[in-house]
Amino acid sequence: MNSILSDRINNMEESATLAMAKKARELKTQGIDIIGLSLGEPDFKTPKHIQEAAKSAIDEGKYFSYPPVAGYQDLREAIAKKLREQNNIAEAKAENVVVSTGAKHSIANIFMCLINEGDEVIIFSPYWVSYSEVIKLAGGVPVLIEGNLENNFKATAKQLEEAITDKTKAVIYSSPCNPSGSVFSKSELEAIAEVIKSKENLVVIADEIYELINFTGSHASIASFPGMFERTITVNGFSKGYAMTGWRVGYICAPLFIAKACEKIQGQFTSGGTGIAQRAALAGLVGDQKPTEEMAAAYLKRRDLVLELLRDIPGIKTHVPEGAFYFFPDVSDFFGKSAGDQKIETADDFCLYVLKEANVSLVTGAAFGAPNSVRLSYAASEAELKEALKRIKEVLAKLK
Ligand code: PMP
Ligand code: GLU
Repeated sequence: MNSILSDRINNMEESATLAMAKKARELKTQGIDIIGLSLGEPDFKTPKHIQEAAKSAIDEGKYFSYPPVAGYQDLREAIAKKLREQNNIAEAKAENVVVSTGAKHSIANIFMCLINEGDEVIIFSPYWVSYSEVIKLAGGVPVLIEGNLENNFKATAKQLEEAITDKTKAVIYSSPCNPSGSVFSKSELEAIAEVIKSKENLVVIADEIYELINFTGSHASIASFPGMFERTITVNGFSKGYAMTGWRVGYICAPLFIAKACEKIQGQFTSGGTGIAQRAALAGLVGDQKPTEEMAAAYLKRRDLVLELLRDIPGIKTHVPEGAFYFFPDVSDFFGKSAGDQKIETADDFCLYVLKEANVSLVTGAAFGAPNSVRLSYAASEAELKEALKRIKEVLAKLK
């Protein structure tokens, strides 16, 4: 019966982040003391006032019906206002905004709307695992431009220019970046914008979901640069900054024809995002931002802690991430080493070894386009992080 599955699904990789998280969860239920540093998910609870807004929305009884496909009008207006006032995207209006079931769904909508068979999408690599799979699902061809440890995993505008062909339709990056935690500066984005504008019919997808976890003190939105509104699809959501992963609310702000296309496809796929979750998201956006700021401050403290602990492990090479909640160390010094019958040849082997011997889950960098690295999420308590890094150091010392 297996053979009845489509080529589409057979050719798709499982999400490596979710697969590793599932594995860690399974081991935990077997009673094994796993410290999960694989999933990019805030360990904080959704702020109280957001929870209360969802409860009130239920009590009001007004949000049980199918929502408007592109999202409730007041939420779309609040998002547009935020984009105008905080991100300097002067053209953003409610009609440009489409609210979806998480930013992951926003990204799926975009690629389903843009890609014809064989179209190329340039991805700044290392990149979040789902980009390439959704591009392929839509019939597109992912083309990677690669950053490395030496340039803080930031591919350049020059690399972008060299990778563009007649078939290139779109470019995608995340900043702050998952998996590297790197942040594009305004001038780096300006250079990228110039390349985009120099080619006809080319758009950029700016994934800004980690906007609120940025330690540089400044976040630049490429859509705010002159002439770039028409060329940019800004993606954002509530999962990270507001600790709302399970609520599943994300959004885009795009030129009207793209927003309309995303609304059309969403009308066929989901009928729009959950009503109650949208009410909660609205409270997040317009309410007290202090919990979000406190979470960001906690991530910064943890970043510094993990940096110190990683630097203390011989063989691990890392840059200093400026946002999100990930380290993306290069572990290639361990390739070719072994302990007993366990040999490390790849980042996958490294992760399996650390999972088995240290009971700490990480994700292989191969899934993010960087086979010499592994991703460590520090969205965990300081006590867990200290214990995890202690265990990792001990088991790595056994590799000869
Ligand atoms: N973009 C990036 C870079 C991410 O890390 C994630 C993580 N989930 C998403 C988009 C999607 O987020 P969500 O669907 O939870 O809004
Ligand atoms: N974005 C998170 C991560 O990279 C959540 C899991 C996922 O959706 O991939 O771990």
